Amino acid sequence: MDFHTTENTAPASPDRLREILEAPGFGVHFTDHTAVIDWTAASGWTNARIEPYGPIPMDPAAAVLHYAQEVFEGLKAYRHDDDGVHTFRPYANAARINLSARRMALPELDEDVFVRSLEELVSVDKAWVPSREGDALYLRPFMYASEAFLGVRPAREVSYRVIASPAGNYFGGEVKPVRIWVSRDFTRAAPGGTGSAKTGGNYASSLAAQAQAAQMNCDQVLFLDPLHENAVEELGGMNVFLVTDDNTLITPQLTGTILEGVTRSSVIQLAKDRGMAVEERRITLDEWAKGIEQGTIVEAFACGTAAVITPIGELVDGETTISSPGAGNVTQGLREELLGIQRGTVEDRHGWLHRLA
Ligand SMILES: *Cc1c(COP(=O)(O)O)cnc(C)c1O
Repeated sequence: MDFHTTENTAPASPDRLREILEAPGFGVHFTDHTAVIDWTAASGWTNARIEPYGPIPMDPAAAVLHYAQEVFEGLKAYRHDDDGVHTFRPYANAARINLSARRMALPELDEDVFVRSLEELVSVDKAWVPSREGDALYLRPFMYASEAFLGVRPAREVSYRVIASPAGNYFGGEVKPVRIWVSRDFTRAAPGGTGSAKTGGNYASSLAAQAQAAQMNCDQVLFLDPLHENAVEELGGMNVFLVTDDNTLITPQLTGTILEGVTRSSVIQLAKDRGMAVEERRITLDEWAKGIEQGTIVEAFACGTAAVITPIGELVDGETTISSPGAGNVTQGLREELLGIQRGTVEDRHGWLHRLA
């Protein structure tokens, strides 16, 4: 599939771009172009193109606006010292957007076309890829039902797009342990639901819990398993790991209600490479709290593309606050190794990097 390029005739000026890259924030500035591919039930995927970034003309009856038939991805592109731009395990994201698409009755996209869309976009907007350590170009592929139709069935017209946004450190500044709110009023996913799909509705339904967390001065929400009392699932957009005093990494197993993070599976691999034991199993809050008290759980962290690896400092469960030990050697070591691979300063033993431009 060939992409047709229409260049933006009014791109950001060099001065403006420099200003943006000086303080990129997260998800507030967007590059000059976007990748687009259209799909219809009759013709399949057609009209792959790069066009100037701008508003999407959309019918008010577009199904996505009513029934949220939508999936998305998130990955980053890093500028290496040789000026090449690389991304991390893009075929894992390609496979996952198709897993999400199947669950949301959206069409699948060829994995090579998915990766090509990233290559094409990053090639025209290469100047937007930050070079400062810790910064990256965040890539956001997404697919949505564009058909104007209010009946409830899978849409027959769909669009796939990629937008890109320079990103600084997600939680800002240095790696400070986050404060986590344990949600008792809301759950995120149930068996048979959409928990393992990366779809906007999961995020929409997490916002009320996130607002409660913010009110309690917490950075993120920890969701629990609705069926098993006090079993830990994940944060709104990050997977959770505990480190024990006998060099074991523990993370909730994938049961269909947890989103399988690319960072999660990379962390599991890097931990095994270090000779750590890795257990994917049910973890309860009680085990976590008791482990901290007895000194058997020595570190806890959350991970995902946006914030990489972030130590968990406190767990707030109603009136109870449990102080977690925060960043230790394992959290720090895994974070540095992962960031180093992504940035091209640590050997890429597993062939995870893919050059985009
Ligand atoms: C995207 C996401 C993650 C993290 O996945 P990565 O591939 O590591 O970025 C974790 N949980 C949820 C709910 C997510 O949507």
